[in-house]
Amino acid sequence: MDKTIKTNPTVITIFGGTGDLTWRKLIPALYNLYLDKWLHKQFLIICLGRQDMTQADFLKKLKEGVDKFSRRGKSKKTEWDVFAKTIEYKKADFATTTVYTQLKKQVAAFEKTADCAVNKIFYLAVPPQFFESIAVKIGEAGLATDRKYARLVIEKPFGTNLESAKAFNKLLQGFFDECQLYRIDHYLGKETVQNILAFRFANALFEPIWNRNYIDHVQITVSEKIGVEGRGNYYELNGALRDMIQNHLLQLLCLIAMEPPVSFNADEVRNRKVDVLHALRKIKKEEVHNYAVRGQYDEGWVEGKKVIGYREENDVAPDSPRETFAAVKFFIDNWRWSNVPFYVRSGKRMSESISVITIQFKPVPHQSFPDEATDNWQPNRMVLNLQPDMGIRIRFQAKRPGLQMQLSPVDMLFNYSDTYTSGTPEAYETLLLDVIEGDATLFMRADQVEAAWDIVMPVLNNWEANPSVNFPNYASGSNGPETAEALIAKDGNNWIVMPFEKKDND
Ligand code: NAP
Repeated sequence: MDKTIKTNPTVITIFGGTGDLTWRKLIPALYNLYLDKWLHKQFLIICLGRQDMTQADFLKKLKEGVDKFSRRGKSKKTEWDVFAKTIEYKKADFATTTVYTQLKKQVAAFEKTADCAVNKIFYLAVPPQFFESIAVKIGEAGLATDRKYARLVIEKPFGTNLESAKAFNKLLQGFFDECQLYRIDHYLGKETVQNILAFRFANALFEPIWNRNYIDHVQITVSEKIGVEGRGNYYELNGALRDMIQNHLLQLLCLIAMEPPVSFNADEVRNRKVDVLHALRKIKKEEVHNYAVRGQYDEGWVEGKKVIGYREENDVAPDSPRETFAAVKFFIDNWRWSNVPFYVRSGKRMSESISVITIQFKPVPHQSFPDEATDNWQPNRMVLNLQPDMGIRIRFQAKRPGLQMQLSPVDMLFNYSDTYTSGTPEAYETLLLDVIEGDATLFMRADQVEAAWDIVMPVLNNWEANPSVNFPNYASGSNGPETAEALIAKDGNNWIVMPFEKKDND
C-alpha cells in the first residue's frame, strides 16, 4: 500500500530550529518518516532559530544529527539530499510580529500549490518560558484559524504547577480549540508504553486478575545513570517530581490502572486516563512525609568513573534544595484498586538506566506444599520492561526436575528484539506522525495535565516550603536514598528490578 496517500500536504514550522531537540529528535524522526514513506510529497519544514546560519551550514548540522541519532544510523547521500530539499532555515526573533506575518504569507503560498487541505503544524521546540508568547503570536497572526488542519505542538514541561498550567491552558483556549493542541509527553510515544494498552486490552487472559483481588501492589521505576548533563539551569527550576513524576510516571500509572476503553478514539482513551487521575487519593499536606520522599545525588561512582555531586554541577547552587530523586506512594480510590499501593520512583545518577513496571501478585490463598518444597517460594510477578530492553516477563512457580517435589520461580519471557526484527520507530516518529494525521490519543488533554498537577501539588508545596536538611542524601551510582527503601519497606515490600539480561531465578 502506498502510505503517502494517508497524509495530507504538510507545512511544519519548528520554533527552535537550532535547538538540541530539533537536532537530536525532530529532524531524525521526520527523516525516518520520509524514508518510510509516511510524508506527503508536498512537505515543507521551516526551521526558525536565532542564529546567523546559512542554509548550507544549517543542513550540514542537521545531517550530522541524523547520522548520529537516527535509529537507522548514517544517512545515505541520495536519500538525505532529497529530504534536505524540504527544509528551510530562517533566522527569526520570535518576539517580533513580522516573523508571524511572513510565516502566514509563506504558509498561504504553500497552500495554493496543494490540491487538498494542508496540515499547518507549529512546533514549540523552545525553552518553556517562550511557549506562551509564541503561541499567542501564532494565534494573533491568524495562523490557527483553520480549526481542522492548524495544530500547535507544545513540548514539556507544561506549566510549573497547577496554577501556571491552568493559566496557560486558558490562554491557549483563547486562540485554539482543544483538538488543535498537542501537548507532548514523549513517553507516551514509546512502543513499549503503547504496548501496555495492547497487552491489557487485546488479551482476555490478564483483565480478570487485574484488580485488588489478585494484585498486591504495583511499582514503577524510571531511573537514569546520567546526571543533569549540562541542564543545571533547567533542573534547578524543576526537579524530579515536576520533571518525571507529574508527567511520565503518572501517565504510566494511568495506563496500568485505567478501565478498558470502549474504543481507541482519542477522547475515549483520555477520558479513561483522567478517571484514574481523579480517583488518585489526594495526599494531605501534613501526611506528605508518609507518602513521598526525595533525594539529591552526591558524588560517587558510575560505570567505574568518579562523578561529581549535583551541587557541584554547572549552574547549580552549592546549597541547592532541588531533588534529583523522588518516590511517591499513591492509592487509587475506586473499586478495582482500593488499597493497592502504587509505588513510583524516579532518579538521576542511579545504579541503572531502566524503565520498568512491576505488577506484584498476591500469594496463593493456601499453601498445599510442604515447607521444604517451597524454600524459594515467591508470589507471581509480572514485569513490563520499557527500556533499555523491551519486553514482558512473567514469573511463576515450577517443579524443579528431580525425584522430590521442589518448587522454584521461573520466568516466561517475551522480548521484542527476539520476536520482531523490523526496526522500532522512535517515540518522536510516532508522535510526529500522529500530529500529521491529527490523532491526539497519545497527547495530553488540558484536563489531564491539570489533574496530574493537582495530584502532585501537596507534595510540591510541602517540599518547597520545607527544604531538605540532609541533602545530598544518596551516592551517585546507588539505588537512591535510604528513605525510599523505608517508604516501601514499612509496607513489607521492597523495590524490585529485574533487568532482562540478568537471570535471577533464585
Ligand atoms: P535549547 O537547545 O536550549 O533551545 C531550543 C531553541 O530555543 C533554540 O533554537 C534556541 O535558539 C532557542 N532559544 C533559546 N533561548 C532563547 C531565547 N532567549 N530567545 C529565543 N530563542 C531562544 O532547548 P532544547 O533542548 O532543544 O529544548 C526545547 C524544548 O523541548 C524545551 O521546552 C525542552 O524542555 C523540551 N524537551 C527537550 C528535550 C531534548 O532532548 N532536548 C527532550 C524533551 C523535551 P538558538 O540555539 O538559536 O540560540
